[in-house]
Amino acid sequence: MARINIKCENGIVIEYKAYKVALDSIIVPRNSIIFISHAHMDHIPNSINEARVITSNETAFLTKMKGINLGNTREVLDGFELIDSGHILGAKGLLINGDIFYTGDIVGRARGFLPKGKGVKCKVLIIESTYGKECFTFPPLVKILDEVNQLIANLFSKGVPVVLMGYPLGKAQILSYLFSNWDPLYIHGAVERMNKAYMELGIDLPNKFKSYSEAMEKGCLNRKPWVLISPLYNGRSKFIQSLKKNYGAVTIAFTGWAIKPHYRYAMSVDYAFPLSDHCDFEDLIRIVRECDPEKIYTIHGYASEFALYLKKLGFDAEPLLNFQDSILNYVKDE
Ligand SMILES: [Zn+2]
Repeated sequence: MARINIKCENGIVIEYKAYKVALDSIIVPRNSIIFISHAHMDHIPNSINEARVITSNETAFLTKMKGINLGNTREVLDGFELIDSGHILGAKGLLINGDIFYTGDIVGRARGFLPKGKGVKCKVLIIESTYGKECFTFPPLVKILDEVNQLIANLFSKGVPVVLMGYPLGKAQILSYLFSNWDPLYIHGAVERMNKAYMELGIDLPNKFKSYSEAMEKGCLNRKPWVLISPLYNGRSKFIQSLKKNYGAVTIAFTGWAIKPHYRYAMSVDYAFPLSDHCDFEDLIRIVRECDPEKIYTIHGYASEFALYLKKLGFDAEPLLNFQDSILNYVKDE
């Protein structure tokens, strides 16, 4: 039997055999290896020091574009394997010693240029459970695309401009890719920076985007309709209010939370569609079955609900909730 110790203080720290690994931790304990699953800021440590950092080259690049240098990162290290998670460009899960699999943020379906995330056979699974509740069942991507394109077409026929909104790193590039058929297509500065970074990393984003701020200065936005790809703003924000007042723009948000009927009202957006960068409930179950683990820990979102559901399915599952917890477990050696 090999002992596994999971500490939850400012992130997850795993001690297993000779390994001490901090998984997406904001504060990193001494002498640990750091794993960074992807380039969203809530997964980047406050300081790196001389620790060894395992991450994908894409994540290192995107993090640098945000002004944080991770130093000499590596994709390959003895005992560790990076597994595609499909969350954003370069996002990976981590398999430790072939035994422990940490998914990071993971998606169950391919979107545009991103592959779907996959499970790997393991003994201990640490899985994100952002949408680990049965109500979160996302429709197929083609259905969402059909509905949104139909909606844009209707608005265009009335000369109404449309603002497509999502997280500026990750979602906005998917939106740029999926809705590149619309013209003119303007992009917000925050999205433009990240689109350029994706293109430098070899992603074939159509090169016909026009800068929103330039278009505004030149008065081009008065020639309606148009589509703007923007970070996700509340409808009550100054930015959206000015787009509505000056151009009569309609807003569409893209997030898994769109499943919740109150989301549209809480965010004051005109429309919301569940195009997500996370697994829905059924995708999570599928990933768990692919991993077929002896022990499961759930983190983030509906961690308790999802662990409970997994228990009903016969899995040994518990949520990692309390960040003071230190959990000892044992993994059978081969
Ligand atoms: Zn993320």
